[in-house]
Amino acid sequence: MRKKTCLSFVAIVMVVSTAFAVAQGRPQARALDPDAGISVILLGTGVPIPNPQRGTACTAVIAGDRVFLVDTGRNCVVTLDQAGIFDLDAIFYTHYHSDHFIGLGEILLNFGVAGIDRSIPVLGPPGAVEVVEGIIATYRLDLQYRITHHGEKFSEAVMNPTVTEHEPGVVLDEDGLKVTMFPVCHEPIEPAVGYRFEYRDRIVVISGDTRVCPDYAAGAEGADLLVSEAENAAMFNPGLALARAAGNTRQFEMIQEGMEYHAETLALAQMAQEAGVKKLALTHLFPSIPPTDAAEAAFIQGMSDYFDGPIIVGRDGMEVAP
Ligand SMILES: [Zn+2]
Ligand SMILES: [Zn+2]
Repeated sequence: MRKKTCLSFVAIVMVVSTAFAVAQGRPQARALDPDAGISVILLGTGVPIPNPQRGTACTAVIAGDRVFLVDTGRNCVVTLDQAGIFDLDAIFYTHYHSDHFIGLGEILLNFGVAGIDRSIPVLGPPGAVEVVEGIIATYRLDLQYRITHHGEKFSEAVMNPTVTEHEPGVVLDEDGLKVTMFPVCHEPIEPAVGYRFEYRDRIVVISGDTRVCPDYAAGAEGADLLVSEAENAAMFNPGLALARAAGNTRQFEMIQEGMEYHAETLALAQMAQEAGVKKLALTHLFPSIPPTDAAEAAFIQGMSDYFDGPIIVGRDGMEVAP
């Protein structure tokens, strides 16, 4: 009888909260299944150049009922919200180019509004403390206002994440999930890392920002799903030629410098094949193409000459399983 009352109460709460979410046009929380495998949601597939259809670096990794974020780029609060994710087990940073961290404050604030009342762990290579403390410092007045206004209903803890800095190696090993940080090649940016998630006989690797290099290949070895940044060099050639013809050496050199530290699509396809990767999902698309079939087909042109597995061109909000 007591159980029945309890279930009725839960049902009423669910109906009320669903009605509340619908009334506000708010997404419902994602139902997380502890028996599910591992998958990713590409929450930001763009680069710093503004593109209304692509936020910047942000990828959710879902392992059973645990949810992690790799990087917290621009607009991630929106795509994360649309995915129905209002809490996280941890956040991992790959490096400290601002397109990889600028969305952190908004994400935490949204969690605070959603009622999350605890400090979320943030892990990254050295630099994490400086970056996260800097972002949190800009929220000091905002937090003061909200607590003055809402009292304990707004969580102070959620706006104070717990930051730890790590060297490459295993950074988390808990309940069947192992996360390993590995170095990548994004020179002159140091440190720069990727992450390897191993869960229930599946390996998912998130590249971070890197050119194709032996360290990256080692980190991606045997991945069932490699979520990789990608750059299509051929698409830049007309722009480069124009800049050169116009004598715009500043623009010419900046495009060239940008191209040097990202993963060129054909080299990436070769690397993935040699590393035994089974599936590729491309993100951090450079140039920042529109999310159309034609542009995406052009972006991956030639890759299947080198890589046998499926190649997915990411769009914001897309979910991919190994
Ligand atoms: Zn980047
Ligand atoms: Zn970068």
